[in-house]
Amino acid sequence: MRKLLLGLLICSPVLLIAQRTILHCGKLIDVTKGQVLAEYTIIVDGNTITDVQAGYTKPAGTDKVVDLRNKTVLPGLIDCHVHLEHETSPTRYLEEFTNNPADYAFLSVGFAEKTLMAGFTTVRDLGGTGVNISLRNAINKRLVKGPRIYTAGKAIATTGGHADPTNGYRKDLMDDPGPAAGVANGPDECRKAVRQRYKEGSDVIKITASGGVLSVAKSGENPQFTEDEIKAIVETARDYGYKVAAHCHGAEAMKRAVRAGVNSIEHGTLMDEEVMQLMKEHGTYFVPTITAGKSVADSAKKPGYYPALVTPKALAIGPKIQNTFAKAYKAGVKIAFGTDAGVYAHGKNWMEFVYMTEAGMPVMEAIQSATVSAADLIGVSDKIGSIEKGKYADIIAVDGDPIKDIQTMGKVAFVMKDGIVYK
Ligand SMILES: [Zn+2]
Repeated sequence: MRKLLLGLLICSPVLLIAQRTILHCGKLIDVTKGQVLAEYTIIVDGNTITDVQAGYTKPAGTDKVVDLRNKTVLPGLIDCHVHLEHETSPTRYLEEFTNNPADYAFLSVGFAEKTLMAGFTTVRDLGGTGVNISLRNAINKRLVKGPRIYTAGKAIATTGGHADPTNGYRKDLMDDPGPAAGVANGPDECRKAVRQRYKEGSDVIKITASGGVLSVAKSGENPQFTEDEIKAIVETARDYGYKVAAHCHGAEAMKRAVRAGVNSIEHGTLMDEEVMQLMKEHGTYFVPTITAGKSVADSAKKPGYYPALVTPKALAIGPKIQNTFAKAYKAGVKIAFGTDAGVYAHGKNWMEFVYMTEAGMPVMEAIQSATVSAADLIGVSDKIGSIEKGKYADIIAVDGDPIKDIQTMGKVAFVMKDGIVYK
């Protein structure tokens, strides 16, 4: 045994050197400076970027070279709003009564892999049943392929609110879910709901501060928490080092959430000038999810796709998000990339880049929203979000130049996450 240990000790430095990967990049997007660099080399050792050098550095010894000279290389992309347990379908509402947690788990494995292969090496999962926590753990143990996940576990709602898990059920099945199930009324229950998320292993807190489109409930925009309740959530979340993401479509809900100190407004559909001003004062991020808005509006046109209560909300709210995004961007609200994947098909997250640039955001800024800004919102700027010495080796490459043609973001040819090549 002692001999074996000694052998390992002697061997390990050699092994580390043997793992160096040299990436020759034809074009390299420097998201911190907002520049495209030509002919650069990234050196990866284990799971870390150890250097970024001008020119094509020659490999030494056992270095492995990855030839990306005819590609554009970017930091791994970050989607700040996904739901990896689900994917939209006309039978989704029925599946709540037929699927077991294991069924959601198997589904989520496929969705996670699709997301990673689309170049999204990190996501925030903003709500599921809790399977998303096990999925994160399985990916971290490398049992399944998927992005780094920062998960909310179960989202927190008020009774009958957007994330009340028994909305739309018949009375004898509705029960009266409480903080453990993610339903909280009054500041005390709100604090308990956050602590329950901590107990279960969440990374971030998600609240549904206003009504939503896909819940079986009448309003898609009414405020659903009092300001005191949101304050209780935010203060408790801070005790545990959590950030708070607030789903909001209505302006009153946004005002309460921003004043109470949440870190991001998700969707933000009916955002008015006053909300934008408040968000700028408080430094609150906007996570637009234009893709989801467009997708639900399209699906709602198919007869019977959604329950009767949902269809008019999808038609009214869905198409408005892109225009809201355009106004918020112009007003100077901080934007972090997020798509609500799961509300549309996983793996098409890149469509958000098309919609953002259509609405007036330059391509470089759209890429920055999905890298440096997203990392800032999650609170992991020291680890991910740019290709710099000391950061995790989350690196992707696309065929072509996204600055010239945004469709290129859908042509991801190379994916490295944590130093491992997946594509
Ligand atoms: Zn969502």
